[in-house]
Amino acid sequence: GFKVGIVGLPNVGKSTTFNALTKTAAAQAANFPFCTIEPNVGDVAVPDDRLDKLAAIASSKQIIPTRMTFVDIAGLVKGASKGEGLGNQFLANIRETDAIAHVLRCFDDDDVTHVDDRVDPVADAETIETELMLADLESIEKRRQGLVRKLKGNDKEAKEQDRLLAMAQEAIENDRPARTVEIDPEDEKLWKGLQLLSTKPVLYVCNVGESEAAEGNEHSTAVAEMAAKQGNTHVIISAQIEEEISQLEAEEAEMFLSEMGLEEAGLDRLIRAGHDLLQLETYFTVGPKEARAWTITKGTAAPQAAGVIHGDFERGFIRAETIAYDDYIAFNGEQGAKEAGKMRAEGKGYIVQDGDVMHFLFNT
Ligand code: GDP
Repeated sequence: GFKVGIVGLPNVGKSTTFNALTKTAAAQAANFPFCTIEPNVGDVAVPDDRLDKLAAIASSKQIIPTRMTFVDIAGLVKGASKGEGLGNQFLANIRETDAIAHVLRCFDDDDVTHVDDRVDPVADAETIETELMLADLESIEKRRQGLVRKLKGNDKEAKEQDRLLAMAQEAIENDRPARTVEIDPEDEKLWKGLQLLSTKPVLYVCNVGESEAAEGNEHSTAVAEMAAKQGNTHVIISAQIEEEISQLEAEEAEMFLSEMGLEEAGLDRLIRAGHDLLQLETYFTVGPKEARAWTITKGTAAPQAAGVIHGDFERGFIRAETIAYDDYIAFNGEQGAKEAGKMRAEGKGYIVQDGDVMHFLFNT
């Protein structure tokens, strides 16, 4: 599955957000730096209105959303790359994630200590980014040293690796995260394999005060500007509200949201933003038994998409009967879409589109 790491300085609201996400008390929130020591892992459903609409048309007995994983990663402090705080553990945990949700303190509350005694989310973002870049620099230098002998022996793979590491090093030494390096498509796999921290896509989570959840505040506006400049995204949530909502029944939660002037829970936006950040797409399988969403990365061909369900589907792939989501809705289900000529038989080369309703035919 796909993993998003929740990171941020101590006391910014990571655990509160994680708790709300997973509705567990496992990651204890407390006004205390380093409260979250072990990485806490939570599986969440990715909310998708389309799935409910498909299920309604097909009278599916069960609705099964696709899921993604959030990891609450232990508090980072300035100097983590030099082993301060829980630095090394933090960095190891973050290496294993596909993307970073960076929680930034955008709420004012004198009762909650800020590690640097001020609320400045843009400076906080830089603090963390700097630690990621320093950690990368150290690992790049180590790895390049380790390649020296192979390079002398003209090892082709070592050469390729060293070339990419040098590109990352150059960027970081010029104060740019490695994610700003432009990589040729044929190098992408090797580049990803380097697992540099500052290449992970970033989503800023602005944690604002309870009364500011709908509009944000001056702090979240500053973050929005920074994110836009970097080409990163941001969402505004109030972790405290989200935690309260997570304890309510669905109906109560909706009333509460509308009282607060919110259209949907911030967590739903956060989860979806994470999904988008990872360039993930969803296709559906729909029948009377169940309507189910499946996650693929953008650009996945039909056999590999089938393989997400079962390896046999990929190995024995024959073709996929495919209906675009809009057609499925417009013609009121499979039968209608079929009669309208909107059910396509797609072969091995078909690139699955977001929202496709698919039925795979395969040899066993
Ligand atoms: P972490 O160290 O980043 O995981 O932060 P926590 O989630 O443990 O939160 C630290 C403290 O800040 C706790 O006492 C929370 O109740 C409090 N807190 C979290 N979010 C908010 C918020 O939006 N407003 C206010 N006033 N306090 C918050």
